[in-house]
Amino acid sequence: MLSNHFQNGIETAKLVWSRLPNSEEEGETGGDLDDDITFRKLSEGSSESLDYEVIENYAYRKEQSQRGKLYVGYYVAVKWFFALLIGIGTGLAAVFINIAVENFAGWKFAATFAIIQKSYLLGFLVYILINLALVFSSVCIITQFAPAAAGSGIPEIKGYLNGVDTHGILLFRTLVGKIFGSIGSVGGGLALGKEGPLVHTGACIASLLGQGGSTKYHLSLRWLQVFKSDRDRRDLVTCGCAAGVAAAFRAPVGGVLFALEEVTSWWRSQLMWRVFFTSAIVAVVVRTAMGWCKSGKCGHFGSGGFIIWDISGGQDDYSFEELLPMAIIGVIGGLLGALFNQLTLYISYWRRTYLHKKGNRVKIIEACLISLITSVISFGLPLLRECSPCPEAEANSDIECPRPPGMYGNYVNFFCSKDKEYNDLATIFFNTQDDAIRNLFSAKTFHEYSAQSLLTFLVMFYTLAVVTFGTAVPAGQFVPGIMIGSTYGRLVGMFVVNFYKKLNIEEGTYALLGAASFLGGSMRMTVSLCVIMVEITNNLKLLPLIMLVLLISKAVGDAFNEGLYEEQASLRGIPLLDSKPKYQMRTMTAKEACRSQKVVYFPRVVKVADLVSMLRTNKHNGFPVVEHARNGESVVIGLILRSHLLVLLQSKLDFQHSPMPCDLAGGSIPIRHNLGEFVKPVSSKGLSIRDIHLTSDDLEMYIDLAPFLNPSPYVVPEDMSLTKVYNLFRQLGLRHIFVVPRASRVIGLITRKDLLIEEHEESETLELQSTSV
Ligand code: ATP
Repeated sequence: MLSNHFQNGIETAKLVWSRLPNSEEEGETGGDLDDDITFRKLSEGSSESLDYEVIENYAYRKEQSQRGKLYVGYYVAVKWFFALLIGIGTGLAAVFINIAVENFAGWKFAATFAIIQKSYLLGFLVYILINLALVFSSVCIITQFAPAAAGSGIPEIKGYLNGVDTHGILLFRTLVGKIFGSIGSVGGGLALGKEGPLVHTGACIASLLGQGGSTKYHLSLRWLQVFKSDRDRRDLVTCGCAAGVAAAFRAPVGGVLFALEEVTSWWRSQLMWRVFFTSAIVAVVVRTAMGWCKSGKCGHFGSGGFIIWDISGGQDDYSFEELLPMAIIGVIGGLLGALFNQLTLYISYWRRTYLHKKGNRVKIIEACLISLITSVISFGLPLLRECSPCPEAEANSDIECPRPPGMYGNYVNFFCSKDKEYNDLATIFFNTQDDAIRNLFSAKTFHEYSAQSLLTFLVMFYTLAVVTFGTAVPAGQFVPGIMIGSTYGRLVGMFVVNFYKKLNIEEGTYALLGAASFLGGSMRMTVSLCVIMVEITNNLKLLPLIMLVLLISKAVGDAFNEGLYEEQASLRGIPLLDSKPKYQMRTMTAKEACRSQKVVYFPRVVKVADLVSMLRTNKHNGFPVVEHARNGESVVIGLILRSHLLVLLQSKLDFQHSPMPCDLAGGSIPIRHNLGEFVKPVSSKGLSIRDIHLTSDDLEMYIDLAPFLNPSPYVVPEDMSLTKVYNLFRQLGLRHIFVVPRASRVIGLITRKDLLIEEHEESETLELQSTSV
């Protein structure tokens, strides 16, 4: 049944449509809604929703009925094969990035150390110039070649898996930009990490594989082009995200949990298996590459090149008294993490609104300036510190103190008057990030760092991380977060060691807890972060403590603002649907949420001229299709996608001279079109109504939309609470829901028992479901 506003236009069998509300109009109609709810708007042209729903149109059903179990088996096997390829691809990309970063950083430090033996000033200049060159290369790649590769990419991928496509995030050029850009930005010593970009890299690899390569760069393979629907690509991108984390941290289980907890909005048990498989493949690829590199074949990249800060030899027990300082670390993490999110939000907003609008040149100058400041601080501040004598080398320690000239790592001899001395600030500041973290986590009873050095580093690095966030380079926040957290964690650890003198307390343990707390306070992840921290430190005994600080820091952070990725997504205009509906939605109905009071719809058989004119005058992507019933009433017979209409108009194959509908019931409707194009939702982004050229004769023709529409769109009664609609929408990954008047009669009722179909009761439905495994 149609409501009144549906019926108005149907009387004359003419198309009636409303114009797409522009932002001002949306503002007006939005006035009807509860003022407290702000509906985030999709910035036009930059993002579009994805079609995750299976469009069970006539074409789809026909194709499914022609496919047997063999095809379903083939389809599933191909998905597993793709999961394997994603694992191998992401693992290799991670190894490549790590080898490149370690080598660039290695050459930089080796050259600087060699030169400062003669002149500190010259060494300083060389250090600055190398950093500048690396950062310059990175920002040039981003601004000139792959703008979508800037930042970590996680908010955009999160949006993609939530159902919003941001333009350009999964392109081949974005992948290339991400890989080479992060080598420059991380190698150039900026206060950012390569882990977030690796998640984006994994997602790009998965998406490109899913679409069979890049057609633009003539790198596509026809036999790979099996999956084209958004739904299939969503599953592959999920595998890619998990692979990215698994590769970045060598944490396969952490990768699976990261995908589950942080980036995806829908999850199925079959997907869990595939994601797990991909992560396992990544672990094998990375391990094999590491083994190969151990023999010195990869230059400066050795066992320390990949993140794994083994602290298994550290504190393995804790006393009750320690829980209080540990809880304090959680609170500090929550506060500093929330502050980090807020500051980066303000700065990013300012950048986007004022600075970056001035063009690429400003972005390049900005990144170079930040590189310069970072180099001056990381080289200059350690010069102000006095050196300390080296600790007594432990019998089984492989760490020399200080390292021989040209080597970097623990106990850096920097601006020291004596040979057997080290500069504690240089040991964490004037070092690669991985080595700095390893130093901060190091579990030694010897107090390697003074409180003054740790405090200086904390303040300076926190400031640098905030300022660097949002520059036009690929940037991850995991490693800066770990560095910030481990610094204040170690500071608390020093205090605890002095306070409870009799306990066997390690400062390194507190550094680890600090790292977990900052990440929890900023990113608001719990389970995945916990597992990642355990996997990278190889110390299972600390699991309860990590859980404790993560819970506290997340709770404290949540009291102030949203997580880093959610804040950034909303700043970028990505309309994420959170897992929880807003409180006010409980008192609102579905009808109240419909902003447009006039529904734009099509009759079943539509004149081409009307269709074109309607597509030109509004930009909606889904339209109800209505038909006159025998009793004169109009009924909704389904939903047609804009992308499908564009394909129909472009091919002209289904144009007909008469406005008579074809006989669907007979099963032999004359569809001349390639059905495959309607089985897989086609993105309308590639095709615009402006690209379609029709003659005046074409415009006088008709199209029967019935075979191409989705006959079973999701429909809700007008008085359903918006909370229920929200949950339905999010949980099913929908793009459109029809709101209809209260239903007048019931033709049946389905309960759990009706859905428990036995395997031998083979039905078409069962077959349909199995293909979307
Ligand atoms: P998405 O933007 O998620 O890809 P869409 O493009 O189909 O989906 P929009 O056109 O962006 O949807 O929707 C903007 C507003 O227009 C929404 O408030 C929605 O309720 C309304 N709207 C969408 N489709 C129609 C339609 N066929 N008739 C009337 N109003 C519509």
